Amino acid sequence: MITFDNVNKRYASGQDALVRVSLEIGRGELVFLTGHSGAGKSTLLKLLTAIERPTRGSILVAGQNIGRLRNGQIPYYRRNLGIVFQNHQLLFDRSVFENVALPLAVAGCSRREVGRRVRAALDKVGLLHKERHNPIVLSGGEQQRIGIARAVVNKPAVLVADEPTGNLDPQLSSEIMQLFADFNAVGVTVLVASHDLELIARMRERVLTLQAGQLIYDGIPAREAAYP
Ligand code: ADP
Ligand code: ADP
Repeated sequence: MITFDNVNKRYASGQDALVRVSLEIGRGELVFLTGHSGAGKSTLLKLLTAIERPTRGSILVAGQNIGRLRNGQIPYYRRNLGIVFQNHQLLFDRSVFENVALPLAVAGCSRREVGRRVRAALDKVGLLHKERHNPIVLSGGEQQRIGIARAVVNKPAVLVADEPTGNLDPQLSSEIMQLFADFNAVGVTVLVASHDLELIARMRERVLTLQAGQLIYDGIPAREAAYP
């Protein structure tokens, strides 16, 4: 589903953020991406979501070479991706329902289809009863769940999250990670970046570890191996 082949990313500043990164993520896998601050996690996700382009190497997603997409093709490519941000980027001038419906506006769904899909997404994150609220009145954990509902409302084949539990306490963080596992269980390919090593260790799933832009570990950690 996702292949990085010898990917380098050097920013205009001269900073090498990724160095010869090669990895493969199969359809339907759940993978955690970890490493200390500055290791290159966000950069890897920005390449995957075509926010940045690789300096060298190739990135294939469902057979498409992402680094070679023309600018006009990028919005179409992103429709197959669900993207969850740390600060969830909800709009506080509209309801929960309308926030989750946003990606469907560009997809050209009928009003009935929008209502059906938004409620299905809210139901999956356990917040169907909050559809009419303004997200500003919700807790941090609930706001992140709304962000996840919005990311999955299009039924993307790939779900990508960058530090989705960054602002949450350990209990809420576990619940959010479990939500990703639930989406994975119904076939979605999921990649979650987090520097929360303890949280990731408890999930007992495949871990990719970056250090200074290099992929230094890829596996299901038995003990401490993934966590230098
Ligand atoms: P992480 O998400 O693991 O904290 P990042 O991918 O954000 O790591 O950063 C990797 C490295 O690239 C860091 O040294 C960071 O300072 C640098 N970096 C990130 N974004 C930019 C940018 N837009 N321009 C220059 N350097 C950047
Ligand atoms: P359906 O045809 O599937 O019943 P609709 O789009 O006609 O869906 O909407 C029906 C219900 O959806 C409304 O009664 C309301 O609960 C909810 N709804 C629709 N649009 C909004 C909105 N902008 N904000 C909040 N709730 C909405």
